[in-house]
Amino acid sequence: MYQLAVGQLDEAARQMGLQENIWHRLRTPQRACMVSIPFREDDYNTVQTVFGYRVQHLTTMGPGKGGLRYAPNVDLGEVTALAMWMTWKCAVMKLPFSGAKGGLRIDPTKLSPGELQRLTRRFTAEIIDVIGPDRDIMAPDLGTDEQVMAWIMDTYSAQKGYPVPGIVTGKPLEIGGSLGRKEATGRGVITCMLEACRETQRDVTRQSVAIQGYGNVGSVSARLAARAGAKVVAVSDAHTGIFNPNGLSIPDVERWVSEHRWLDGYPEADTVTNEELLELPVDILIPAAVENQLRADNAGSVKARLVVEGANGPTTMEADVIFASNGVMVVPDILANAGGVTASYFEWLQSRQQYLWSEDQVNDQLVRLMKEAYVAVSALARDRNVSLRMAALFLGIGRVAEAKRRRGMFP
Ligand code: NAD
Repeated sequence: MYQLAVGQLDEAARQMGLQENIWHRLRTPQRACMVSIPFREDDYNTVQTVFGYRVQHLTTMGPGKGGLRYAPNVDLGEVTALAMWMTWKCAVMKLPFSGAKGGLRIDPTKLSPGELQRLTRRFTAEIIDVIGPDRDIMAPDLGTDEQVMAWIMDTYSAQKGYPVPGIVTGKPLEIGGSLGRKEATGRGVITCMLEACRETQRDVTRQSVAIQGYGNVGSVSARLAARAGAKVVAVSDAHTGIFNPNGLSIPDVERWVSEHRWLDGYPEADTVTNEELLELPVDILIPAAVENQLRADNAGSVKARLVVEGANGPTTMEADVIFASNGVMVVPDILANAGGVTASYFEWLQSRQQYLWSEDQVNDQLVRLMKEAYVAVSALARDRNVSLRMAALFLGIGRVAEAKRRRGMFP
């Protein structure tokens, strides 16, 4: 993943003629914190050593901002790549943040709530010196949720001696979370999907959609795509995919998952694998699970004409080339899934000002900023005759480079 992120930076820097000094500065993170922490399992006798990471790609644009993921294969390279993408994403959206990201190398689905809580609190304590509402702010990502954010906020606040809600975003409403944050990434994904349909004169009510991943981003994207009139025909989770060419009833699927946790066994659909889902005969594909899903070996088999990246890094550079030559339009992750960090920015503002926005206020501002960013990226793509991904990178990297030039260098 790090190679993908750096590869994209190199390609964009080369094409935009970025000054070498700045280019090289952007290739490696400014700070990377790695910890190993002891974690006691519920049986009390077993103690595991778990690896954790927090990477701040830059500090140029404002405090670090980025999610925290719990996954069994997380490593420093992955977290660094994600931190770099956060920098470009915040810059594309004009948010006053630098990119950061964190991860714990653990499978959260195998932990009890008590284990998850102990692990989260210990990790927070280990990295307490590098985080803070003015320093680096975490948010949910793969395998973490608002409860994990609540434990981080509580641990940090207990150390400080007063409540610090601005230390995390994506936290529960009761402790200063924002209305609309949970749905924000999916809302941003679907705003981009609708903008792309508008721009290419596709009637959204005639579009079929397949979505890989049915967690936070995937499930909200499915709900909002269906609400916009599109026909959602397939969704998947880590275990299985479900496909109904006549369209899935998303409220039914939501009910099934809330009762059974996994999609497995859902009655009104056929079963497909995650690989098969990507190649289904649909108009729009939304990868909203994990990275590295659309590669040289399967990109040529993708039937969708529009790919909207809910996940971070789902498409390799080789796949991008294949998509370009096959006329597949890709709305890149650093634009398409930027709704999450944008609503996180609103939440951070509310936490700091102790002032609550209404849900309509959050959603309206979010959709407005997403549309503005889409239009800016799309105009640049047309102007420079490049893909939407290259245009988004030009915009993000260009803004960061200009900020670096303005701030100068110490000493
Ligand atoms: P999540 O944990 O809520 O959901 C992930 C989903 O993907 C689940 O349905 C899970 O079962 C499935 N999945 C896991 N491994 C898989 C695999 N190998 N193959 C297929 N499916 C798999 O996570 P999320 O918050 O929805 O994040 C999904 C993606 O979106 C990640 O790439 C994340 O970085 C990105 N993202 C999330 C947010 C956010 O606000 N949550 C913001 C921006 C980007």
